[in-house]
Amino acid sequence: MVVKVRKFHDVLLRSKILTMVSPHLPAPLLKLGFKEALEVLFHLPIRYEDETHLYPLEEALHIHDREVQTQGWIIKQDLVYRPRRQLIVTVKAGDSLVALRWFNFYPSQMKQMAVGRHIRFRGLIRTGFMGPEIVHPVVKVLDEDAPLPNTLTPVYSTIAGVSQLSIRKAILQFLKSPDLQKELADTLPPSLIQSYFPHLELPSLLAALNVLHQPAADDDLEAIANKTHPAWRRVQIEELLAQQVSLIRAKKDRQARLAPKIPVKTLANGLLSQFEKTLPFVLTGAQQRVWQEIQEDLSLGYPMNRLLQGDVGSGKTIIAALACLHVIDAGWQTAIMAPTEILAEQHYRKLSVWLNPLGVKIVWLTGSLKASEKNKAYEEIASGQAQLVIGTHALIQDAVQFKKLGFVVVDEQHRFGVKQRLTLQEKLTDELLSCHQLMMSATPIPRTLAMTFYADLEMSVIDELPPGRQAIVTKLMKEDRRDELVASMLKELKEGRQAYWVCPLIEESEAMQLQTATATYEYLQQAAPGLQIGLIHGRLKPSEKQDVMDRFVRGEIQVLVATTVIEVGVDVPKASLMVIENAERFGYAQLHQLRGRIGRGSDASICILLYGQQIGEAAKTRLQTIRETQDGFLIAEKDLELRGPGEILGSRQSGDALLRFVDLQREQGLIAQVQKLAWVMMDQYPEHIQAHLVRWLRHRVDFVKA
Ligand code: ADP
Ligand code: MG
Repeated sequence: MVVKVRKFHDVLLRSKILTMVSPHLPAPLLKLGFKEALEVLFHLPIRYEDETHLYPLEEALHIHDREVQTQGWIIKQDLVYRPRRQLIVTVKAGDSLVALRWFNFYPSQMKQMAVGRHIRFRGLIRTGFMGPEIVHPVVKVLDEDAPLPNTLTPVYSTIAGVSQLSIRKAILQFLKSPDLQKELADTLPPSLIQSYFPHLELPSLLAALNVLHQPAADDDLEAIANKTHPAWRRVQIEELLAQQVSLIRAKKDRQARLAPKIPVKTLANGLLSQFEKTLPFVLTGAQQRVWQEIQEDLSLGYPMNRLLQGDVGSGKTIIAALACLHVIDAGWQTAIMAPTEILAEQHYRKLSVWLNPLGVKIVWLTGSLKASEKNKAYEEIASGQAQLVIGTHALIQDAVQFKKLGFVVVDEQHRFGVKQRLTLQEKLTDELLSCHQLMMSATPIPRTLAMTFYADLEMSVIDELPPGRQAIVTKLMKEDRRDELVASMLKELKEGRQAYWVCPLIEESEAMQLQTATATYEYLQQAAPGLQIGLIHGRLKPSEKQDVMDRFVRGEIQVLVATTVIEVGVDVPKASLMVIENAERFGYAQLHQLRGRIGRGSDASICILLYGQQIGEAAKTRLQTIRETQDGFLIAEKDLELRGPGEILGSRQSGDALLRFVDLQREQGLIAQVQKLAWVMMDQYPEHIQAHLVRWLRHRVDFVKA
């Protein structure tokens, strides 16, 4: 065994994996954005066409459920103008006839399909008005009896002007190049792969690429299409391994850096212990556990990078406040960054109420401040006077320089990009130290995803809501019952309740979204005269938004007509009713977040999902799920089934950016083994794994740092 591995190792070194041989790339491939041949080989087909079978026309005419390939002689060519300009070519083989029809064609095609030519063609046969026909078939003129290919024809994703043929030709040529073959020598010891995946019969990487670019006609085509074929497995395992190793490394690198060391034992007279005595409520068990975890992290001397997940309303803000105080007690500055002004302002207010009595200096910083106010904030931050800075993206502007930043909180972290989070951490001026970071998210991430995408993070979950919360009753209602709804809502409002009326999401156009919001506002004014109605949307200035929110908080506004600006974080406990217009247009996560704005106080809450006339099956299922459960994790699982991880996490997440061929949902079964393999490779085969990372992540290593 040892001998075998050693030998393999030698082969690997001799093959000089680290030095890239790059044959000149043909122009079409440069156009596709490729820089080197090796990259092109990982441009795998999106599907295949089967040109390996040829049916006699007579037989082909009976196949209607899939594309078929057949051949024959052209006996007639017609240019017809009615109902619209079209080219019809009649083909004969034996006693059978079929019409080929084109609506878009070039003069050259007419020439090519001259009467008397022998052609091979492929397409879906249907029965038209005039008999069997194929619309827009793929045609090849046969000089002699051309042999059939014995491999499937791959179809690659491409752009206008770059033909399938040019990609295919280049790839086939590269696959045959001895230099590239050498470069593609396996980075993973075969014996190791064999022992970790004994049942998969994995081919070498080179063999796998050969199969995927040109599957033989007798290969397991279904497995190739489902991406469960051993060739696919090889590619997936390799990619997943590279991703996992890079995340583990990022974590190790982090643990090797220094950060402020903040002992767990709190100062007897510190701000934290004073605050703990006056806490407005008792922490839930889950909050206490999470708070312990964070304190431990902060005491370790290397930068914390913890993700705090907790469903909407689970009480993450208080945890952020406690952690900030703890760090401030140790003499460091802290910062909280939120994705929207409304949310940042809300944090500012809440934390001011909690922390001002303790004498904590809180500074507020957003883009909408006047220049003079901004400058004042910058000075207070730079001088170290500011102990806690709360704001939006404005926190990561160059002008912001902290004196002694020790800890940052990023609320609703998925709303920020990797880069933005990094920038905030780098605001620490001391070059030897790194900053602690707590990311918070109310969008639960299913366990499988969390395990793989966030292998570089520590994870805390608040899985319990504060006591006294009432379940929200959710109802589905057709939109034509809106008048009825307004009438019954008026009754509730008379008893002092407050409501959100959320306008439909119009993704294509913010202007249209505003228009519908205004229309809804007017409709409600007419339908319920005397009612105090407010309107809030993205086009308002921050101060105007705040003014509306304030009036809503004070109860001066009874119904707040809103666009999705209120989606995250907004906390008005008295609001207990919500209507969501055209609820079918919203996704799972959005509906869950929106609904999370109510059910925060002691009143029983009701959420009405209004839906339009034309509602599809998927939307119906979505609304029903939302009606039936309030469990964010369950909803996240459903969302994952529906949209896949890429869409949920977006390219913003570091781990995701590293996966092209792996679908975590589909490849769940591989994850645990690959994770074990990752550790073994790092421990025992450091050079191999280095070569592996270079091959897989060459252009993307930066992502993993965030
Ligand atoms: P989220 O996790 O969605 O950010 P918040 O931090 O805004 O939730 O908390 C939601 C509401 O619950 C706030 O009004 C907050 O003051 C309150 N809250 C938080 N923790 C508790 C608790 N342990 N007991 C009672 N109320 C709490
Ligand atoms: Mg929050």
